[in-house]
Amino acid sequence: MRIITKIHEMQEIIKLDKQSKSIGFVPTMGFLHEGHQALMKKAREENDILVLSIFVNPLQFGPNEDLDAYPRDIERDTNIAEAEQVDYLFFPSVHEMYPETPSVTVKVHERTDVLCGASRPGHFDGVATVLTKLFSIVLPDRVYLGMKDAQQVAVVEGLVSDFHIPLTIVPVETVREEDGLAKSSRNVNLLPYERAQAPTLYDSLQRAKEMIEGGERLPEVVQSFMKEKIEQETEGVIDYISIYSYPSLKPVSRIEGKIIIALAVQFQKARLIDNIVIDL
Ligand code: AMP
Repeated sequence: MRIITKIHEMQEIIKLDKQSKSIGFVPTMGFLHEGHQALMKKAREENDILVLSIFVNPLQFGPNEDLDAYPRDIERDTNIAEAEQVDYLFFPSVHEMYPETPSVTVKVHERTDVLCGASRPGHFDGVATVLTKLFSIVLPDRVYLGMKDAQQVAVVEGLVSDFHIPLTIVPVETVREEDGLAKSSRNVNLLPYERAQAPTLYDSLQRAKEMIEGGERLPEVVQSFMKEKIEQETEGVIDYISIYSYPSLKPVSRIEGKIIIALAVQFQKARLIDNIVIDL
C-alpha cells in the first residue's frame, strides 16, 4: 500500500492505472471501523485498484459542530487499510485540499432541506464540494457509500447525475454492533450509560418496520411510537424522527412505495443517526 498526501502525485499515479484498470474508491473521514471495512471489502472484490481516502473535511462541519473533537488515529487506520488490501491511501492535509478560500463550492438544492440537512445547514454543500474534488483527483469507476448516511447517498447520486460524472455509486448496507447500534466513528464519544441506551435507536426502527409490516400506513402513528420509546429509554435529545420517500426525500401522507425512516438523536458528546429503507 502506498500512502499519498499530495494531489498531483495521486493524479499522476491514477492516470496510469486508469488506462487498463478499474478504480474503486472509498471516501472516509478515518477512525476506521467495520462499517468502513465493509465498503473496502466490496470495493476490493469489484475493482482492480482500491483507493481509500481519509480526510476530515472542515467544509462539512458547522461552526458549533465536532470538527476538533472528531476522532483521529492515522496509525491504526493505516494498519486497517493495509489489511483490507488498499492500494493507495490518499491522506491529504487540509492545506493541500484547501490552500486558500475556495473560489468555487457546490451548492446542493434538492434533498437537503430535511433530516440532517435541516439541522446542519451547509453540511451537504461541504460533502458535495469535497467529493467533487476527490472524484477529480481519484477518477473512480465505482464509489462505495454507506447507507448509514442514506441522505448522503441520495445527495451524491444527485450530484453525479446532474454533473454527468462518469462513475457508479454503490450503496452498502449499514454494519452494526451485535446489539444493533450502527457502527460509527462517533460512538467512542458516547458516555458509558449513553452507550448502554443507544441500541434503542435501531430497536425503535425495527419496531417501526414491524408496525408497517403489520399494516400501519400513517407516518405520524409510527413516528409518535418511536418518539415515545426513545424518550422513555434514553436521555438523548431527539433531533428528528422522519419518514420520507426514498431517494427523493419528499414527505409522505401514507407509507407506500420506497420509504426511509430516519432518526437523529443528540447525546452529550455524540450525535447519532440511523435509518432503515423499506420497499413496500
Ligand atoms: P465517514 O468516515 O463517517 O464519513 O464514513 C465514510 C463512509 O463510510 C460513508 O460512506 C459512510 O456512510 C460509511 N459508513 C459509516 N458507518 C458505516 C456503517 N456502520 N456501515 C456501513 N457504512 C458506514
